[in-house]
Amino acid sequence: MTALQVHPKMPPLVLASASCPRATCEAARPTLEIGLMMQGNSLLLEKLHFRCCIAGGGPAGMMLGFLLARAGVEVLVLEKHADFLRDFRGDTVHPSTLETMHEVGLLEEFLKRPHQETTHVRARIGGDDILLGNMSYLRTACRFMVQMPQWDFLDFLAQHGRRYPTFHLRMQAEVTGLVKVNGRIVGIRAKSPDGPLEVRADLVVGADGRNSAVRERAGLTVENVGASIDSFQLRLSKHADDPKFMQYADRGTALITMDRGDYWHCGFPVPKGTAEVMRARGIEDFRTGIVELAPFLRDRVGELRDWNDVKLLTVRSDRLGQWYRPGLLCIGDAAHAMSPIGGVGINLAIQDAVAAANALAEPLRDGTVTDEHLAKVQRRRALPTRLTQRMQGFLEKQMWRGLGKSKPMRLPWAMRLMESTTLPCRMRTRFVAVGFRLEHVKTPDIFSSRHHQTTNP
Ligand SMILES: Cc1cc2nc3c(=O)[nH]c(=O)nc-3n(C[C@H](O)[C@H](O)[C@H](O)COP(=O)(O)OP(=O)(O)OC[C@H]3O[C@@H](n4cnc5c(N)ncnc54)[C@H](O)[C@@H]3O)c2cc1C
Repeated sequence: MTALQVHPKMPPLVLASASCPRATCEAARPTLEIGLMMQGNSLLLEKLHFRCCIAGGGPAGMMLGFLLARAGVEVLVLEKHADFLRDFRGDTVHPSTLETMHEVGLLEEFLKRPHQETTHVRARIGGDDILLGNMSYLRTACRFMVQMPQWDFLDFLAQHGRRYPTFHLRMQAEVTGLVKVNGRIVGIRAKSPDGPLEVRADLVVGADGRNSAVRERAGLTVENVGASIDSFQLRLSKHADDPKFMQYADRGTALITMDRGDYWHCGFPVPKGTAEVMRARGIEDFRTGIVELAPFLRDRVGELRDWNDVKLLTVRSDRLGQWYRPGLLCIGDAAHAMSPIGGVGINLAIQDAVAAANALAEPLRDGTVTDEHLAKVQRRRALPTRLTQRMQGFLEKQMWRGLGKSKPMRLPWAMRLMESTTLPCRMRTRFVAVGFRLEHVKTPDIFSSRHHQTTNP
């Protein structure tokens, strides 16, 4: 067994072989254990031990990994894909997430990455133009939201996580099962191109999204909240003089357009179960539907050559009854799949990560994490999740009540009256930009010189 000084401010890590008895390692308080079982020249099983192992390198997993590593917890994030590059992922970074970036001192650097900023969100519904959101009302560090491809955002977190010796990210590692001992989850099994992997950890976190293998293997009960729409996703090039509305709706159809610099990332919501009917009508019919809503796109709908240029995303809204089991916690979409309404899913996942890091960093570092700590995370985040899903359901009914009907859309008179005041806009802005409970980062950066000055005066 060898002691390894990985960073001058960290206690030495103990690298042990797989045959190292756990008790010996525990006595030496190791946080990382690496072992390779070899037979001849072939790798049989790689065994690792971390304080925390996170399944899934999406917004929830990467932010939690970053915050825990920054607070001195040995953490391993396993991501099944080889990179973060995936098309048509949500890519809105709201003021609540920008606040988190500000609190960890990375906002300025984050905003140096190519992005678009939006302060006013406008919609054209039938003949009515309404201001959906106005971020200038906010009291957060940023009074705008940012559109940035999600892979850039995740890459940024990975890049900054790697500054800490406690941060470990393994790509192409797909979690396939859980290791249980006496009813407690003590690790995960995964497959990687280098062979099978077993990671033992004081805590396993399921941040592997709405099709979470972790929550399924743990047997956690999922409550379906229900979603009445699915959404086609597509991209169309953008011209400098295009109108700046984010939503167009009329005669039973709607189009969401998100500014991605030189193109529009568009969502075309449809009532659940009708996507196949639309596909059967042909791509020309679909293009016509887009032009009817947003005539300025007439000169480029031809960019949709066939249905291969249009992706259908099945919308789901659900949540777990209990987010944890002994040794395991789920966060983000793995705990509550979010519908795209308001584009709040990423931000809710980040808020979960901040709350989980606040509650768990210290007990994880000390090796004293209990079920009560996990329950505390659920207690903190369950209510904002419920309220957000309820609000999404309400907005779905209000905004897209005429979806699938061919009548011209018109806001009811009472709504138009309300919209003449700033109240509905302020309420929507608060819901979308900040959410029902804004989490503040309470975990330290134990590697910063400031932290060392205050703890060792
Ligand atoms: C149509 C649609 C549009 C949306 N648009 C927006 C939007 O504009 N803005 C917004 O904020 N939200 C949006 N959302 C919601 C948002 O995408 C999610 O709420 C958010 O990404 C959740 O983050 P997460 O980290 O919990 O999960 P995910 O983003 O799903 O990340 C999970 C990660 O785990 C990995 N993974 C999965 N299984 C395994 C495994 N077995 N082993 C290892 N890794 C695994 C995945 O590859 C992925 O990287 C949208 C959702 C839909 C359906």
